[in-house]
Amino acid sequence: MKKIIVVFFCIVYSLSSYSQQRFDAAELLSNLKEISSDKYQGRRVGEEGNKLARIFLEKKMKEVGLLQFDSTYQHTFPFLHRTFRKKMEGYNLIGYLKGTEKPEEYIVLSSHHDHVGMHNDGTKQDSIYNGADDNASGTCALLAMAEYFLEHRPKHSIIFAAFDGEEMGLVGSDWFVDHSPIPLKNIILNINMDMISRNEKNEIYICGTRHYPKLKKMLKNSDENSVLTVSFGHDDPKEKNGDDWTFSSDHGPFHKQGIPFLYFGEEDHKDYHQPGDEFKNIDPVFYLNAVNLILDTTILLDNKL
Ligand SMILES: [Zn+2]
Repeated sequence: MKKIIVVFFCIVYSLSSYSQQRFDAAELLSNLKEISSDKYQGRRVGEEGNKLARIFLEKKMKEVGLLQFDSTYQHTFPFLHRTFRKKMEGYNLIGYLKGTEKPEEYIVLSSHHDHVGMHNDGTKQDSIYNGADDNASGTCALLAMAEYFLEHRPKHSIIFAAFDGEEMGLVGSDWFVDHSPIPLKNIILNINMDMISRNEKNEIYICGTRHYPKLKKMLKNSDENSVLTVSFGHDDPKEKNGDDWTFSSDHGPFHKQGIPFLYFGEEDHKDYHQPGDEFKNIDPVFYLNAVNLILDTTILLDNKL
């Protein structure tokens, strides 16, 4: 199966807009395939599949060589389970790298690693909600970017945060902001990734610049290397029916604290929060281009901020 992935990747890679490899794209795809497989049972916070994913991701963070806060990548937090109405524990996975020029200033790159688990209402054949796009895609991108920045040291320090409990109401990122390992005033930016591996219109959104116009100026022409349609928006509080994404994912708690954010994500698709959100339904070419775009943006802002 690994061979198939490698061959598949070679085709994908030749179709993508980048000829130069900045991270191991075959591993990016194989990581995504792994944590969105049925073995991980939809990675719901507090459940066994979530724990398996956590062990996998922790091992990867170690392999990349990220530094730890309090001698661990796993940062536990308590939360009230919505359905069971009982107290449970979630686990954020946090690692970081020290910056070369402004080590006291931090950029937080984030994604959520949990998904919605398993449900069987009797109407569907498949009861496992694999969450390949939501949000194994952002989580594996986080690891690829960590790999890049370990080789190409950033000017600012970067925290790589895979949050838990996003699907339970942003509980992991909320906890992180309330119990940050560094003073919040030292966090200058949050770049959040949630659902970045498929879109029929080849379009990805950058949400947040309406709140932080300074960032939009800095991002002028930042997408010139990308073949994706890069749109700004979904950050106007006047937008209705969930179209304002200002608080839709883990960037929300950062924004509440006045920390500038950019959120990368695509619009919902037919498999959103459905068992069909599986590896076979992601678009590897789109995904690779999205990860490269987010990496380019992070490098650019690391240089400009
Ligand atoms: Zn999500």
